[in-house]
Amino acid sequence: MSGDGRGLEFAFDNSYQRLPDRFYARLDPTRVSAPRLIKLNVALAELLGLDAATLASPTGIAMLAGNRVPGGAQPIAMAYAGHQFGGFVPQLGDGRAILLGEVVGRDGVRRDIQLKGSGPTPFSRRGDGRAALGPVLREYVVSEAMNALGISTTRALAAVASGDYVFRETQLPGAVFTRVALSHIRVGTFQYFAARDDIEALRLLADYVIGRLYPELKGTDRPYLALLGAVCERQAALVASWLLVGFIHGVMNTDNMSIAGETIDYGPCAFMDSFDPATVYSSIDQKGRYAYGSQPSIAQWNLARFAETLLPLIDSDQETAVTAATDVLNRFPELFSSNYIVGLRAKVGLRTAEEDDGALITQFLGLMRSSHADFTRSFRLLADVLSNDNSRAVAFRSMFTDAGALDAWLQAWQARLTREGVDAHEAGARMRSVNPVYIPRNHLVEEVIRAGVDRGDFAPFEALVEVLSQPFNEQEGRERYAMPPAPHEIVHETFCGT
Ligand code: AMP
Ligand code: MG
Repeated sequence: MSGDGRGLEFAFDNSYQRLPDRFYARLDPTRVSAPRLIKLNVALAELLGLDAATLASPTGIAMLAGNRVPGGAQPIAMAYAGHQFGGFVPQLGDGRAILLGEVVGRDGVRRDIQLKGSGPTPFSRRGDGRAALGPVLREYVVSEAMNALGISTTRALAAVASGDYVFRETQLPGAVFTRVALSHIRVGTFQYFAARDDIEALRLLADYVIGRLYPELKGTDRPYLALLGAVCERQAALVASWLLVGFIHGVMNTDNMSIAGETIDYGPCAFMDSFDPATVYSSIDQKGRYAYGSQPSIAQWNLARFAETLLPLIDSDQETAVTAATDVLNRFPELFSSNYIVGLRAKVGLRTAEEDDGALITQFLGLMRSSHADFTRSFRLLADVLSNDNSRAVAFRSMFTDAGALDAWLQAWQARLTREGVDAHEAGARMRSVNPVYIPRNHLVEEVIRAGVDRGDFAPFEALVEVLSQPFNEQEGRERYAMPPAPHEIVHETFCGT
């Protein structure tokens, strides 16, 4: 089928496919019965330099379904390994995804275009290579919401219903998702070659990553040590940005940690409603390994696994390599904290730094926790305390159980703002530009999945995607999207759905 892309030609420029054969398996996607376009991300298509009208045409949809390989694509399934819940699996790989190739966008950035749910590959193990519609809708909604929130993430180019059924616990409608990423190289990609003592491949991979993702490191003194440092920096910033919006990835296995520093793999991910660092939603995370508040330490654990793969490249003397890598890894907590505190200060309207800011903001989080207050709304409505609109300040206060403690805290906070000499109106506006009104709340995501999967009704999905594209702006008539779930709407558990 490769090359059968007449009439469908994109400016692919595939660099990963120029790496040796042992990095991947070449194969075409498997056909689906009756592809139907659910959603095309027109703005992203334009950014990528792809013609949206062509993509939405029958030949374009055939490509997005895996039924037709466009000219210039070189489909592969990438090889990788990974630690899953702490246990090492030497071979995972793309079991249900196929990388079509790379395009350089209008912004000059090179990105992968990958189909997910596109049929079995040599890495499928016992899986069917397919994706169910529900998880595809979930990934579309949440990854695009993350992007609109300003968080580094893989993107959603399209969702296509396949017309086939997939079999999980029950029979479910299938779909194919088109994912766009700065690269799909993971910590697990390095682990794959490290597990095989393939130092030559590790060096090729590291050089490839530096050339593509970290070009500023080329020709530096110790490029592989610098690579470790740079990946740590991106992950520290990423995980801090997650915590600042209440995001729980849910399955931070090393094969789901991107070397490019993007959020990747939206399986059982969830946004926290009421604030509690121990929050876990994923049905498969029995021990809470990937709880909200554990994400920074898990990121560091994963980065230690990455560091181990780089040791032979860092120095021929192992002890020297270990010492150097450990020094870099040990900086991670501080890297994380500095990103996190900068974000927290912004959330409460502070522009300058004072020694006790961390303690002040921690107190506010403590009040949220003891009141089971909604994390997103608490920060969003805090700005209303500064406004003259009393009814809004009342809504804020009503979320907290201990009015006395809240008042004491508000006084301390306002005193701190006053020391900064800021205008209350201006501080409020700044707070609203970083504290979202709308996040992809679990009950809303669940609702659009049910409508799409059970009733073939994608209007609620469209509406939610639309609301979440402007997360910081209050949208008239969309108030219910800003609200936490009513008790009967609370989603207690999320599923991978693979
Ligand atoms: P994930 O939990 O989505 O990160 O997937 C972990 C591994 O399982 C990866 O190697 C996936 O490619 C593979 N996998 C997940 N779902 C399927 C499926 N339905 N068929 C084949 N492989 C799968
Ligand atoms: Mg994965």
